[in-house]
Amino acid sequence: MNELRIKRGYSLNLVGAPSPDLEQLNRPDRVAVLPERIPFIKPRLKVAVEDTVKVGSVLFIDKRRPEITFLSPGGGKIAEINFGPRRVIREIVVALDEKEAFEPFPKLDGTEIDSIERLDLITTIINGGMWPLIRELPYRDIARPEAMPPAILVGMDAKEPFLANPESYLKGNVDLFRSGLRILRRLAGENSVHLFTSPRQDYVRQTLGSDITCLVSGPYPADDPGVMLYHTKTSSSENRAWFVQGQDVLMLARLFAFGRYPTERVVAVGGSAADRPRHFRTRLGVPLIHLAPEVKHNGDVRYTAGGLFRGYAIPSSSYLGIYETALNLVPEGNVPGELLGLFRPGPRKPTFSRAFTSRVHRRALTVDCNVHGGDRACIACGYCTYVCPVDILPQFTYKALYAGEVEEALSHGLLDCVECGLCSFVCPSKIDLYETFKQAKADVYLEQLRA
Ligand code: SF4
Ligand code: SF4
Repeated sequence: MNELRIKRGYSLNLVGAPSPDLEQLNRPDRVAVLPERIPFIKPRLKVAVEDTVKVGSVLFIDKRRPEITFLSPGGGKIAEINFGPRRVIREIVVALDEKEAFEPFPKLDGTEIDSIERLDLITTIINGGMWPLIRELPYRDIARPEAMPPAILVGMDAKEPFLANPESYLKGNVDLFRSGLRILRRLAGENSVHLFTSPRQDYVRQTLGSDITCLVSGPYPADDPGVMLYHTKTSSSENRAWFVQGQDVLMLARLFAFGRYPTERVVAVGGSAADRPRHFRTRLGVPLIHLAPEVKHNGDVRYTAGGLFRGYAIPSSSYLGIYETALNLVPEGNVPGELLGLFRPGPRKPTFSRAFTSRVHRRALTVDCNVHGGDRACIACGYCTYVCPVDILPQFTYKALYAGEVEEALSHGLLDCVECGLCSFVCPSKIDLYETFKQAKADVYLEQLRA
């Protein structure tokens, strides 16, 4: 087993960490898929309101790659199809039947997984709706089924506050997880599947033992597959490695083990406004209000699907997307008296600079969404460079993009950006470097696709 120490990054000790307890949630009465939250796809609907669907029925396809299907996480009736601006499909909502029907898919045991032709394996995964869970670096689009990945990376940690801890979904499912790794090894062909975790993940280390290829230590985002790739690749031919989230390895395995579209999800609910910060066993596309019916805060609360750095704000009336395994509830920070937050000493507020007195003690801190003032010019403090785990010079990359010099930004390493959000977080001028880089990477990719 290799060991890797990532030096750059930043870890926060925040109030509202989910306890490791795993609580079984009641079955919700509806679930949804959020096409808008699946990057780069152009969905074409295959259902209409009032249609009856089974678990595993096709809801929509990607116009760009029509063979890639997106399946229903529930059996029942299509209750709503909600659109955003420019007819973007936001939500396809399924009202669940008391007794749900399932589309059947082929079951494969370990020996059959080892002997099936790779192309047939890919077709089985695509038809079973699991292909979107396999993604490709550096753009993080759904993997190209026709490509042979230089490697497949699976990270087993939860450094971003607050994501589902691997122990919570791995317990009781170790054999299933190993079956998922078997599937990934067949997909990787002659190349490797890298399973990495951190030394602090005792349960993962003890149960998966020799399956783990690398122990990665360091602050957030040391557990990101892009960081792992950046620090281990030997040539640019490895840039388009595939990656799969730890919990999604289990989803793949369940498809083959049970011949059904898997719907189980372990979700972490955290954040200082979470009434009951803990892990819940629930299902794909669960309503947010089902996960967190109460909040622990008097003012406005932001619902964030995913972690606090990379997640996205979402109305509490919405649902959890297919990639999200966490819901974080954070005060908006727009309460009276906080308007001058920039000038108020904050023993409980996180800071990378020395703006708040919290820098001098080690207590868990409270985060809110107040940026403490408007955009300000870069003051060349270098904090963004200090935390960036992939040695981009974010302030120079940003300036290049601001001036329209995309080639220069690429030469700074724009495509290595793992979209961790740290540079924006530490920036005292609150320049949104992260969104700028994410958008610039997407623009480069879309340009390639059009070429
Ligand atoms: S430039 Fe990218 S990788 Fe570096 S800190 Fe910013 S978001 Fe993270
Ligand atoms: S952290 Fe912000 S202000 Fe400081 S160098 Fe980077 S972009 Fe400029």
